[in-house]
Amino acid sequence: MSQDPYSWIESSLATIHKANWYRSVRKIQGRPGATVLLSGEEVINFSSNDYLGLAGDERLSQAAINAVEQWGTGSTGSRLISGHRELHRELEQAIASWKQTPDAVVFSSGYLANLGAIAALVSKRDLILSDQYNHSSLKNGAILSGAEFLEYPHCDLAALTTQLRQQRQNYRRCLIITDSVFSMDGDLCPLPELLDIAEEFSSMLLIDEAHSTAVLGNTGAGCIEHFHCTGKTLIQIGTLSKALGSLGGYVAGSTSLVDYLRNRAPTWIYTTALSPADTAAALAAIEIVQQEPQRLEQLWRNVNYLKQLITEQLPHLKLLPTESAILCLQLPSATAALRIGEQLITKGIFAPAIRPPTVPTSRIRISVMATHETRHLEKLVSVLSEILV
Ligand SMILES: *Cc1c(COP(=O)(O)O)cnc(C)c1O
Repeated sequence: MSQDPYSWIESSLATIHKANWYRSVRKIQGRPGATVLLSGEEVINFSSNDYLGLAGDERLSQAAINAVEQWGTGSTGSRLISGHRELHRELEQAIASWKQTPDAVVFSSGYLANLGAIAALVSKRDLILSDQYNHSSLKNGAILSGAEFLEYPHCDLAALTTQLRQQRQNYRRCLIITDSVFSMDGDLCPLPELLDIAEEFSSMLLIDEAHSTAVLGNTGAGCIEHFHCTGKTLIQIGTLSKALGSLGGYVAGSTSLVDYLRNRAPTWIYTTALSPADTAAALAAIEIVQQEPQRLEQLWRNVNYLKQLITEQLPHLKLLPTESAILCLQLPSATAALRIGEQLITKGIFAPAIRPPTVPTSRIRISVMATHETRHLEKLVSVLSEILV
């Protein structure tokens, strides 16, 4: 037994390289925003989830600085053991009031919110039905829970209904889980229909608002507001790390749900509370989103303008169906996506190639921001038409 037990790592990496699936991180410089510096060169940034341009906002920075000065850098422990700050509850109340739910609880990331909530809500005797395109955190939450985990084809309500009809009676509880905006496609889940199906089959419904919070709905409250489903009983999860420009996640819902999660969600109980700086920045962001509706309006003007430019000037390109600030241009292969991603960078555009295994088909993924200027959007389209001739 002289074989190196770690040698498989090198060969796995070689396989990843061979498939063109290898990923590495690029270094960016400067403050986050509609343009960033990549190796010292300014590029227009279409790769960020900072939809409203808040991550670089002076008011968020100041809120974080004030919180650090007052309460220091670390939260020093889990909230149940070490206590929490008034600020943590203020943030939870701000989320609940924005989402119009009785209560909310914040986690240290959106990923942890999904893992913890799903693992707390269902277990061995229960059933999870999950959209095939769901985010990794929902899928891994389902696996962690130990419940029977079935996927239904993307947004296929007929298939979901059939699965429920065949399986529901064999299980104690049932949880349907879905992204609201699908993160690598940009389309929306059929929320009103999902609510009806959940009710018909006595199932809970959990929706992940990561890419719709502060993006969709009149006040930015998300996909639930967009579909006029505010006030319905369901489990809303989201992140403070995308349009809210900070770091953290949340679950919003009934008082008993939130109380239960504080007692049963392992990723809340056994991890350190959100830092004072992140908490204060998220709270400041929620206030700004509510006080400055023009940011949301500008985001949608930009999305619609870019869609129009792509349809008019790049008619041969396949734009995947989208109802969010995520626009995906489908490409024939991982190699093509990578090559185009690289060419875009040399021409001053930062937009990532997304490849299998993250998605079934390769694409360039464009995230629109409220702070993109008209010339940024026009440059993207002119560079794309140059590259794709
Ligand atoms: C980004 C994302 C998450 C994770 O949120 P973080 O706060 O970044 O951990 C969860 N769900 C979806 C759909 C996401 O896109």
